[in-house]
Amino acid sequence: MPEAKHEEGGAVETFAFQAEIAQLMSLIINTFYSNKEIFLRELISNSSDALDKIRYLSLTDPKQLESGKDLFIKITPNKNDRTLTIRDTGVGMTKADLVNNLGTIAKSGTKAFMEALQAGADISMIGQFGVGFYSAYLVADRVVVRSKHNDDEQYLWESSAGGSFTIQTDNGEPLGRGSEITLFLKEDQADYLEEKKLKEVIKKHSQFIGYPIYLVVEKERDKELEEEPEAKDAEKKEGEEEKKDDDEPKIEDADDDDEAGDKKDKKKKKTIKEKYTEDEQLNKTKPLWTRNPEDISQEEYADFYKSLTNDWEDHLAVKHFSVEGQLEFRAILFVPRRAPFDLFENKKQKNNIKLYVRRVFIMENCEEIIPDYLNFIRGVVDSEDLPLNISREMLQQNKILKVIRKNLVKKCMELFEEISEDKDLYKKFYEQFGKNIKLGIHEDHTHRKKLAEFLRYYTSASGDEMVSFKDYVSRMKENQKAIYYITGESKENVTTSPFVERLRKRGIEVIYMTDPIDEYAVQQLKEFEGKTLTAVTKEGLELPGDEDEKKKLEEDKAKFEGLCKVMKDILDKKVEKVTVSNRLVSTPCCIVTSQYGWSANMERIMKAQALRDTSTMGYMAAKKHLEINPDHPIIEALRQKVEQDKNDKSVKDLVVLLYETSLLSSGFSLEDPQTHAGRIYRMIKLGLGIDEHEGAGDASEDAASADDVPPLEGDDEAGKMEEVD
Ligand code: ADP
Ligand code: MG
Repeated sequence: MPEAKHEEGGAVETFAFQAEIAQLMSLIINTFYSNKEIFLRELISNSSDALDKIRYLSLTDPKQLESGKDLFIKITPNKNDRTLTIRDTGVGMTKADLVNNLGTIAKSGTKAFMEALQAGADISMIGQFGVGFYSAYLVADRVVVRSKHNDDEQYLWESSAGGSFTIQTDNGEPLGRGSEITLFLKEDQADYLEEKKLKEVIKKHSQFIGYPIYLVVEKERDKELEEEPEAKDAEKKEGEEEKKDDDEPKIEDADDDDEAGDKKDKKKKKTIKEKYTEDEQLNKTKPLWTRNPEDISQEEYADFYKSLTNDWEDHLAVKHFSVEGQLEFRAILFVPRRAPFDLFENKKQKNNIKLYVRRVFIMENCEEIIPDYLNFIRGVVDSEDLPLNISREMLQQNKILKVIRKNLVKKCMELFEEISEDKDLYKKFYEQFGKNIKLGIHEDHTHRKKLAEFLRYYTSASGDEMVSFKDYVSRMKENQKAIYYITGESKENVTTSPFVERLRKRGIEVIYMTDPIDEYAVQQLKEFEGKTLTAVTKEGLELPGDEDEKKKLEEDKAKFEGLCKVMKDILDKKVEKVTVSNRLVSTPCCIVTSQYGWSANMERIMKAQALRDTSTMGYMAAKKHLEINPDHPIIEALRQKVEQDKNDKSVKDLVVLLYETSLLSSGFSLEDPQTHAGRIYRMIKLGLGIDEHEGAGDASEDAASADDVPPLEGDDEAGKMEEVD
């Protein structure tokens, strides 16, 4: 249990950490991990965020800065107490903020981060999961946060982990506004009190923070003490900007090396070594985006990217540019190496572009600045034209912002194009952000054509490499007019699909679309370079055929007309139509869907969306056509059977069974698998020569035993058919 060390003030309230946070903290404390220095990056990044917030508030409400105009971060090591203090003049936290943000409100990132760790992730990734604050416990066994928000009193939060924290009003030194985080360092972490170490870590991780970071450094200087009062002058000359003379001056007898002995009056002088502290600013680099791209190294971009994003890895690609003309802005856009863990999780999509106006940070995830599908792009935009005191609401209507957005999208397209020139790099990019490209196809009408060039798919001819539509088109058959694709659950699934049989046999490449979002994207895309995108699972499939084949199809249609009619009668409303197929080779029949309804895959996706309004299921549900394979012996035998006796008792059974089986092989699910199973068992019994009613007496037998097989059709209909017999 943490002990509140601060006397006075109100009562000390104790809170339990939310369970997952407590778990995370003990993980942080107990995991052996050497790269602990990232704690400082996380705390500085929080300070920077807090400063961003107060600056933003002050743009519309200047009174907010009455509690302090100076915006800075100050790091103070204290070797005597073995504490490291990070102070900022940011927005601060109210009591409620302290309770909520530092311990009681669960964040999705907490669990996700622990899972990621289990899967081998690195602790330094913590910032990406939104729980960076707790990294303080990598180096400290006790943390005290004092904070003052404009809307509340000054409070003190304290925890030594162990499942709880305390909060009390703070009567310590007033902060004015902002937060002060004091880390009571573990015994073996005293290294983080050394100036050299701190400078190194801050330079490495935090050099691009947009507010001054001061390190309180200890200095020593000689001070001459004279008997005469003039001695004061000497001190003044030496004096530097800011100093606090906290420590007792150390007096030394300086007689030995005193050159002043030459002086005529030979006054007795003493030099004292005096310790004093000074605030040294560590980050003086001017904003990277204001510099000339030619002078910036990849390493600098990488450092900037990391400080911007808390990412522990370099970016995958970067674009740094400026736009001039009727409006002026500069921007740096990054593509990360990985999609964040919650890329598609939040309903409300956030983007990651920081907006600046003439070097002043305005806000992050400004909604209008970039379309949703590009929400994985990280970066900064610095406008010369927007007013400083612009609010979120105003931004929504803002014309300047619209132009900026247009330009950002254009530059993203260029950036993707550049990435695509390097095959390996593009592969990485596509693995992570392919979904975003597809979302773009769905959402961004203007760039649809361009985005289509970025799509990659496995195909029946692609092997292990994904290919582009361009690749596909370049190797289309001479008389081939359409681009053929199939949608389905997985690559394995579509590879063996009956729909692909004939096309493969004839050497026509089929694109495999196995991402749910493909269904949506392809509906919007419709064509590529004038070639229609054609689903091989939909009715009326036309293959680039020779005349012979067309002729054969006509003949088959005539030959099987009778069978088709009988089948349709049996299946009734289950299918729209029964026709002769030109796409099957070794499968007796398949279910295709109408041009405009859902495909089997789409039906599967829709059914999986539990919260959907089910009323649309009815009319959007895939309109099914049964196609039969005229060259298949089963179909031929069935045809003969029907020709001999239209009312053959077994025909109905066989047709329904064929239908249900082809539903499965065409990617649909069965409404009533038990009934289907019942039919199959009956067939098996038949095959084994077992009497239908044999062995069914045992009451404990499962529902699928022959006696329990439900009627084939809806009850009354089946009854009717039976009577006809
Ligand atoms: P994140 O920064 O990703 O939100 P953290 O765990 O680093 O996650 O911080 C949790 C929250 O605590 C922050 O979102 C912020 O609300 C609050 N916080 C942390 N440090 C400060 C600070 N120095 N000033 C104000 N608020 C802070
Ligand atoms: Mg943080």
